[in-house]
Amino acid sequence: DGKKAGRNQLRFFSSSMISHAREAVIDTALRSAISSDELYLLYQPVANAKTGRIDKVEALLRWNSRTLNNVSPDHFIPIAEESGIIVEIGTWVLNQACRQLAEWQTSGVHLTMSVNVSASQLLDTRFITYVERALQINQLNPAQLELELTERVLIDDGAHVRTTLNHLRAMGVRLSLDDFGTGYSSLSYLTQFHLNTLKIDRSFVMALESSARHQSLVSTIIAMGHNLDLELVAEGVETEQQISMLQKMGCHYLQGYYISRPIAAENIPLICSSPVKI
Ligand code: C2E
Ligand code: CA
Ligand code: CA
Ligand code: CA
Repeated sequence: DGKKAGRNQLRFFSSSMISHAREAVIDTALRSAISSDELYLLYQPVANAKTGRIDKVEALLRWNSRTLNNVSPDHFIPIAEESGIIVEIGTWVLNQACRQLAEWQTSGVHLTMSVNVSASQLLDTRFITYVERALQINQLNPAQLELELTERVLIDDGAHVRTTLNHLRAMGVRLSLDDFGTGYSSLSYLTQFHLNTLKIDRSFVMALESSARHQSLVSTIIAMGHNLDLELVAEGVETEQQISMLQKMGCHYLQGYYISRPIAAENIPLICSSPVKI
């Protein structure tokens, strides 16, 4: 018995060593990813639920590593967050997304750009300056930029985060709460922070068709959002039925594979040229 337990322990230990080593490899490769031009952004269209027009896009990071091939953001972003390199990467994302938004604007395509922001970026004292500079260099209206925050960002409820978010709001930048409903105390954030948008997490949207309880929950979230004057975006919309339910509930925006997968920048003007059929 003791022998068996020992063997299991050993296996456990070595598999965690392997994942540790793998993390170190990813971390090293990430450090050169920016300078080696291995990072790029895809943009996922967000449709107005009434008109089908694409009013907004979300910038989503991709990493085509020369040594590791394509690594999914769900895998490498937590590693980048842990090592702190996410601050540098996040700044690159912000600048790249703003430059792209300005380029579309010049060609007559007017959109709001959503950018994901990690906790350590927000804790960096230079973050406001980075945002100001990205807007200024690209001559953007601050209201065209929406920063997507998760509860993990807000949980570090230090005075600094609050001050930074208030400053950004005062500048006119929009703030969005990502993955809404999946955290511990989502509701308390609604009173503490002045947000513009709630993104209803994909897990709720996925369950809409099969679960009456999820239907009640989502329609309650949407009604609450209306009362608090928040814009609502449903994430992970994949079926016609989800769309018709969300429309009836009064959801403002739809994002998901049914509308479009994340796509390259050059394909955005075409999809924006006419409303999607919903
Ligand atoms: P997220 O912010 O919740 O982004 C939405 C994710 O859901 C994206 O995955 C998107 O491709 C995927 N998605 C969209 N519609 C559907 C759908 O209909 N069905 C399904 N199954 N999936 C859908 P992606 O691009 O792999 O990104 C994963 C996560 O990585 C993001 O989740 C976000 O937390 C993080 N991330 C991505 N880019 C950045 C970035 O630039 N900075 C930071 N800090 N995090 C990022
Ligand atoms: Ca997001
Ligand atoms: Ca999300
Ligand atoms: Ca998510």
